[in-house]
Amino acid sequence: MRNQILKRVTVILVLTLALSSVISSFVLMRNMLNENIDFMTQAIGVVDYSLNGGQPLEEQVRRMHDFGMREDTRITVIDRNGTVLADSDMDNVGTMENHLERREIREALESGSGYATRYSESLGKHLLYVARLSADQTKVIRISIPYNNFLEYMIVLLPLLTVGLAVALIIGVAVAARFSNRLAADEMKRQMEQMEKDRKIRQDFFGNASHELKTPITSIRGYAELLCQDFAQDEATRKDFLNRILKETEHMTGLIDDILMISRLESKDAEVTLSRVQMKAVLREVLESLEPQASSCQVELLGECGDIALQASVQQMRELLLNLISNGIKYNRPGGHVWTVIRQDAEAIYMEVTDDGVGIDPEDQARVFERFFRVDKGRSRKMGGTGLGLSIVKHIAAYYGGSVSLESEPGKGSRFRVEIPLSGINKVDNPAVSRYTNS
Ligand code: ADP
Repeated sequence: MRNQILKRVTVILVLTLALSSVISSFVLMRNMLNENIDFMTQAIGVVDYSLNGGQPLEEQVRRMHDFGMREDTRITVIDRNGTVLADSDMDNVGTMENHLERREIREALESGSGYATRYSESLGKHLLYVARLSADQTKVIRISIPYNNFLEYMIVLLPLLTVGLAVALIIGVAVAARFSNRLAADEMKRQMEQMEKDRKIRQDFFGNASHELKTPITSIRGYAELLCQDFAQDEATRKDFLNRILKETEHMTGLIDDILMISRLESKDAEVTLSRVQMKAVLREVLESLEPQASSCQVELLGECGDIALQASVQQMRELLLNLISNGIKYNRPGGHVWTVIRQDAEAIYMEVTDDGVGIDPEDQARVFERFFRVDKGRSRKMGGTGLGLSIVKHIAAYYGGSVSLESEPGKGSRFRVEIPLSGINKVDNPAVSRYTNS
């Protein structure tokens, strides 16, 4: 990760610096050009003002150049027809070609002033030409100076730009290296904390599981001892003890099943058989299996589900509904109801289990999804609860990339809502999972 950060920072730095160098050079060059043009236009004004009819024009131009200007500057005077009248660099202006087609001359004749940059074959360099119509409008005066074009300008600037780039790169990479070192240390710390958290959760889980298993075992042992010691005098008492033993073993079986379910859901490489699951059929089956428990508690079960299918483990879907609906029965009162509604839209499948039972205090609402957490331990145990049901629901929802939420009001009832997004592994037409299907 560290090397990747460094690589990216270096690439970004080099690109940014190179681009900003090119842009700033271009802007600087344009500024310099404009300043030169301004300055040369002013100089032409001075030349124009100084020219007089007294002496030959060529002599005046040469003198002005020799006294007041740099060696590589050139002054040319052209008449309105393009004929060169005088040139500081040429003795025989008569041999010079007509200048009417030169861009700067044309512009000066049209609008009063103009400029152009051109490569001069005779001098072997680029020149900047600035021309201006004289005050009496009879001639155009032009000054030219050597001028670097953008590429030449870049070549001159290149050593400086390279030094700048290298310094920025060294600083940038050093800062990035420090930053990525810190990130790596933070990541390591986070991983260690997560490992410690996982270890604690596992430890708590084993502690709780052993404790939960101990209760029925103690009870079974107690009744078995009583039976052995012939404490049960009559047949009815003996049968009652045996029934209690049976009930405790059922509870133990339920607990072990739940523990196994959780550990399977947690181990990522556990084999899960996915198939096209028709939720309507699963709901019907779950409601039927819970009917005896519901009628003994005098709770009415109601269900509603359209033709909804998803790619899932049928066992997990059954377990999810079973846990939620049986909770609705267990934590209810005679005359209560449990409504189950399964809906679907373009994004997800929603399973809502609502009851008008005892409800859950706000401070306990987040905790009910914790393993072995029970609001009323006695009631849960009496109803065959293990304290793992909602934790299993949460795990199953998470397995499909979904979530479970809860709204509840004490004394009024609760609503559990599972949302499973229709994307990834659970989309029925997902080709990635079709090879695991057994439908
Ligand atoms: P249990 O096996 O004890 O039912 P769960 O994990 O399914 O374990 O639920 C945890 C606790 O949350 C329960 O012991 C109960 O106190 C509370 N609970 C769960 N569902 C409901 C509900 N529908 N109404 C009221 N309380 C509930």
